[in-house]
Amino acid sequence: MKAVCWNGANDVRVETVPDPKIINPRDAIIKITSTAICGSDLHIYDGYIPTMQKGDILGHEFMGEVVELGSEVRNVKVGDRVVVPFTISCGNCFFCQRDLWSLCDNSNPNAWMVEVQMGHSPSGLFGYSHLFGGYAGGQAEYVRVPFADVGLFKIPDHLTDEQVLFLTDIFPTGYMAAENCNIKPGDIVAVWGCGPVGQFAIKSAFLLGAERVIAIDRIPERLQMAKEQGKAEVLNYEEVNVGEALKEMTGGRGPDACIDAVGMEAHGTDAMAFYDQVKQAVRLETDRPTALRQVIVSCRKGGHVSIPGVYGGFVDKIPMGAAMNKGLTFKTGQTHVHRYLKPLLNHIENGDLDPSFVITHKLPLEQAPHGYEIFKHKQDNCIKVVLKP
Ligand code: NAD
Ligand code: ZN
Repeated sequence: MKAVCWNGANDVRVETVPDPKIINPRDAIIKITSTAICGSDLHIYDGYIPTMQKGDILGHEFMGEVVELGSEVRNVKVGDRVVVPFTISCGNCFFCQRDLWSLCDNSNPNAWMVEVQMGHSPSGLFGYSHLFGGYAGGQAEYVRVPFADVGLFKIPDHLTDEQVLFLTDIFPTGYMAAENCNIKPGDIVAVWGCGPVGQFAIKSAFLLGAERVIAIDRIPERLQMAKEQGKAEVLNYEEVNVGEALKEMTGGRGPDACIDAVGMEAHGTDAMAFYDQVKQAVRLETDRPTALRQVIVSCRKGGHVSIPGVYGGFVDKIPMGAAMNKGLTFKTGQTHVHRYLKPLLNHIENGDLDPSFVITHKLPLEQAPHGYEIFKHKQDNCIKVVLKP
């Protein structure tokens, strides 16, 4: 089959690789109909995620049709149309049983690599390096899905791929980010980053009852989408002092909750130098969590800081003094996608939100390298790329 393979920082290629096979009785094989490129893939593309190996298949936002099942899979059948959460979860462990799916104890066979640094490992993730289990991703024609009885979610036929694809990640991620803000009527929520995750965080904040959302970025078409689609007020951080503007817009108090939907941002050629560092050790150090610092400093006293943005290794120069003295509440994590599938599908079916609004580019799988380039560099008004195998 054809698949998008990692070959090094800023180098992905569409290669011919062996088809996946059932290796466990709870596996399924999915023929992929739609798959997207995520801001999280850019961290790999930038070279921020160590333990990638040449030839690893990328991609964790995908859906398609079940073509083969292991002998123990009961609740899906061949021919079913499904979306696949990007987090791999067994459904049985302490964490899955508590609805904390992205913390599954049984889906990351390489847990030891992360436990040195983090104490405990998060769940396995599709297409996201050997730190997260070394699973082949879904930017491909076929993929193997482990724990298929809990890892596949059936989709009604009347909804298009474009309407449901983002249930795999960015819609639940934006939603969980907003839920983590503990929104009360009248609240003002500020969202740093108007990429796809930020766009869903804005929509979700309103779904959850925010009165106003203020969105921050520097890319004009992303700010425009936040304003027109998201009904947010917007700030261009290259044009205004964000901290001062937020104070002014909130009567001097600061937003009630602040969301960091940026994460590790590569600033141009920095990424290559960075990559040389991370090759040396399974750790990252950066003193550039610009958005996160602003989030903490801008949030009102007693407010909520929600961090869906992805960080790896050690991130220094966090203003912990401000966090402590202002009594902030922090919530973060890989999204517990399984938790949100049904409620968010309901929102889509009710017409509360059509997630396809973020798609700016639909490309054949063969053009994935071009898709990565325009998404990374925000060229050609790119906000979200969907690949069609
Ligand atoms: P993206 O790269 O398209 O968007 C990031 C946006 O942040 C860009 O528009 C960029 O211009 C903006 N930005 C950069 N620096 C900024 C700053 N200082 N202030 C304000 N905006 C700034 O990525 P995305 O797909 O929207 O993903 C966003 C983050 O969410 C990434 O870190 C991604 O890895 C993460 N993510 C997390 C989860 C999870 O489970 N927690 C899931 C999916 C994605
Ligand atoms: Zn993603």
